[in-house]
Amino acid sequence: MRFAEVALKVPLHRTFDYRLEPQQQPCVGGRVRVKFANRACVAIVVALKSHSDVPAEKIKAVESVLDTTPVLSPEHLGFLRFGAQYYCHPLGETLFTALPGALREGEQVDKTQVPVLTLTPAGRETTQLRAKKQLALLEQLRSAGDATASELKTLGFSQAQIKALLEKALIKEELRTDTHWQSRPLQLGSKPRLNPEQATACSAINSETGFRTFLLEGVTGSGKTEVYLQSLEAILASGKQALVLVPEIGLTPQTVNRFKRRFEGLPIDLWHSNLTDNERLHTWRRAELGESALVIGTRSAIFLPFQTLGMIVVDEEHDGSFKQQDGLRYHARDLAAYRAAQGRFPLILGTATPALETLQKALQNRYQLLPLTKRAQTQQDNRFMLVDMKGQAEQSGFAKTSLDTMAATLARGQQVMVFLNRRGFAPTLICHECGWLSNCTRCSTSATYHKSLSRLICHHCSEQAFVPVQCPDCGSTQIMPTGYGTEQLEEFLSQQFADFPVHRIDRDSTRRKGSLETVLDEINQGGARLLIGTQMLAKGHHFADVNLVVILDVDSGLYSCDFRATEHMAQLITQVAGRAGRSGEAGTVLLQTHFPEHPLLQDLVNNGYQDFARYALREREETQMPPYSHLALIRAEATNAQLVMAFLSDLVPATPYPGIQLLGPIPAPMERLAGKYRYQLHIQAAQRKVLHQYLAQLADYIGQHKLANRVRWSIDVDPMDT
Ligand code: ADP
Ligand code: ZN
Ligand code: ZN
Repeated sequence: MRFAEVALKVPLHRTFDYRLEPQQQPCVGGRVRVKFANRACVAIVVALKSHSDVPAEKIKAVESVLDTTPVLSPEHLGFLRFGAQYYCHPLGETLFTALPGALREGEQVDKTQVPVLTLTPAGRETTQLRAKKQLALLEQLRSAGDATASELKTLGFSQAQIKALLEKALIKEELRTDTHWQSRPLQLGSKPRLNPEQATACSAINSETGFRTFLLEGVTGSGKTEVYLQSLEAILASGKQALVLVPEIGLTPQTVNRFKRRFEGLPIDLWHSNLTDNERLHTWRRAELGESALVIGTRSAIFLPFQTLGMIVVDEEHDGSFKQQDGLRYHARDLAAYRAAQGRFPLILGTATPALETLQKALQNRYQLLPLTKRAQTQQDNRFMLVDMKGQAEQSGFAKTSLDTMAATLARGQQVMVFLNRRGFAPTLICHECGWLSNCTRCSTSATYHKSLSRLICHHCSEQAFVPVQCPDCGSTQIMPTGYGTEQLEEFLSQQFADFPVHRIDRDSTRRKGSLETVLDEINQGGARLLIGTQMLAKGHHFADVNLVVILDVDSGLYSCDFRATEHMAQLITQVAGRAGRSGEAGTVLLQTHFPEHPLLQDLVNNGYQDFARYALREREETQMPPYSHLALIRAEATNAQLVMAFLSDLVPATPYPGIQLLGPIPAPMERLAGKYRYQLHIQAAQRKVLHQYLAQLADYIGQHKLANRVRWSIDVDPMDT
């Protein structure tokens, strides 16, 4: 008798045994079809064995074998096992999170081929076209090589442009056949000579033959990307593959093209959340077969299989989008560290504003710190100025000083960037008579007023409502917006600076496909302009002419109950500030605050993030907060608050567990969200090992708890929002 032990996509911390017929030959890491709870399911074989503890009359047979070679290699399975264990998540769900959708559904691994678009001889000759964007597309293919339709869309081109060029026979579709990039000499686009700091960094990285993590701590514009490029060179030249992880909104045409132009002719694949199932499967397969040399991708690219991975780069390692906030709550940077150790290759973490977790490891010499202190193309640093808002008459959120400085900058023909991390017109409407607030009916927060849409929209649950003409409570018509959002800033600044173009960049203004690219193109034409934006502006994009950055609402980060709030505020300020003065002269950064004397703010402004972060770390040490302790959260939610409280309270043991501190249950930062009440339990330990031992026990206990099916619960290890 033979048995297959399989993992299923079910929320249970266990595997299941099925009987094998003599002719069935599955493999570990391959898929089979089985019946589970009377449904046909795809399952992944995690072990083959000759004995099962399940009684013979109860054990079911494997229905069919889908793979004769593994879809998850032993090494990859080992990596995912680690992920499941570390994040206290069921193995089956973890494996199915990693697999592309098509493989989850039981599709064959080689089901699909995605064609690339390539220039025809006529296209190669074409240098003039009436349609400018179409010409740019030809230029893109000429300078950076063939690309799939989806890659071109990531680079800002549209399906219509692709179709037009196909019809004109200037481009054509082709299946990629050349898979031997490893045996060709590397062709490199032109590259700058490294400055001494960059050279030191590159030689440290390139002299490493095994596993080591490098923290490339370099201010914005100091040439981190150049260090990635020149470090990758040696890896790719030796025929090994590489993975570059970027934040959710970091996959910009500028970034992608820098890699494509540098490594001419190397197969580079992109991975992000907008791919179709077929594209995902295809890229997964190309990585696995060694057909792609380099994958640039967002968070979930960490789960791609590779034939011979030789380096991982995590750009903007501090970025919150590397942490998944539901299901398997993994951090791609932390999993990258495991993968690099497992594969014994270097890991580069690059950022201007390291996460305190990362910085601590660098200061303890567990990571090698590689500083880049100078901007690559300009000598000067930006000037920071705190604008004291106390007692100031403000105009739509701006102090007079700010408006004057903005006017002067525009008059010099330079660009101004205004940063406010809140979209919409106003965060709330208020009744002047009775104090009614436009609260979301399903969340413990207010619904944002969107003037252009005449709607109240909750940014947490997306519920929409019409804007009331009269106060629902007292009937008054005196309903007015309070507070500011980017939409209001746009309206105000368009009037205030009527002679200059105003561009708003946030999720609302860029919802339409291609609209972000259009705005960016306009901005890059240069000249005096006003840019208004949320954190979409803070990352990835380069604005050559921005000389002044005005940051409103610094204060919300200073006094928050989240212990990471100041760290995140400092990172955001530094990132936004880094947008100023990128070419040539130094820029100015104005921070509007009611607390100009706040020590952390003072430190940040006078001594920079590097200093701030080291000071903030000492504070964490004194309070024994992460990274000086380790944290996990048990979250639970249900429409019935008592049920949630009863469930969580019951998880608190009568006698304390040695080395574990429990806090709660306490309300989540948003106590009510989309109609559900939410509470949480903080679990803290000085030792990571103790935390994980405790969590494993707790997960078992929860699995058998009678209320576990009546609330939605989750375990979050190393939570980012507490
Ligand atoms: P970061 O990734 O740290 O923001 P980049 O690598 O994008 O910095 O570099 C900023 C700018 O400086 C880019 O335009 C880049 O081409 C240029 N640059 C980087 N390194 C050098 C160098 N050694 N010499 C000249 N220019 C450089
Ligand atoms: Zn009222
Ligand atoms: Zn809501």
